[in-house]
Amino acid sequence: MEIILFVLIGLAVGSFLNVAILRIPKNQSISFPASHCPKCKTTLKFYHNIPLISWVVLGGKCAYCKEKISIQYPLIEFFTAVIFFITYTKSENILQALILAILFSALFALSIIDLKYKAVPDLISFPALFISFFARDFLSSFTDALLFAGGFTLLRMIVSWVIKKEAMGEADIIIAAIIGATVGVNLGLSAIYLSALIALPAFLIVGKKGFHLPFIPFLTLGLFITWLFDKQILMLLDKIYG
Ligand SMILES: [Zn+2]
Repeated sequence: MEIILFVLIGLAVGSFLNVAILRIPKNQSISFPASHCPKCKTTLKFYHNIPLISWVVLGGKCAYCKEKISIQYPLIEFFTAVIFFITYTKSENILQALILAILFSALFALSIIDLKYKAVPDLISFPALFISFFARDFLSSFTDALLFAGGFTLLRMIVSWVIKKEAMGEADIIIAAIIGATVGVNLGLSAIYLSALIALPAFLIVGKKGFHLPFIPFLTLGLFITWLFDKQILMLLDKIYG
């Protein structure tokens, strides 16, 4: 029963992420005005706003003016529920599951915003960093966050000096700190390595056309996979270096 409740919370969080993704990059309030159709501006009734179900029942159209509603909304609700399901299954207790599910949901929202707007709003990244301090025990998480933030700032200075232009954004350093806090130093380095591996083919395909490739989605994916398969990755590292 607990897992069903947890997944339902995930759907509700996904619904909230939709609002955050739509409004935070435009500096609009996330609580006011109430959800409305972007075309006819009619305020939605609560039953037009039920995650996943309303979109399906309304056939992906506004209940009033029949304007098409993007599939992005139900997809984000669905994937947030999946994040909640996986973290519940993997975590040792419900509190840890909740902390990690909210952290990964925030990173998910940052990934979508980075993809769509090439922006990383502090309003999401800083709270996410704060939550990540509680991903393991506070002292280890906090120390590893500082280590990663410091390491990445140094790396950024060196790379920027070598290529003679600004390398990485400040937001990437915050995400690196979150990675350190969430999985620690060894797994954190694996997560960043994995992110680069996943990003490489994408970079080769779109990078040449002068397209700026957002890196937050890859860091998020790298972290999530590393966290999910932590034992297997640690065993692999042990085989390589042990
Ligand atoms: Zn409408």
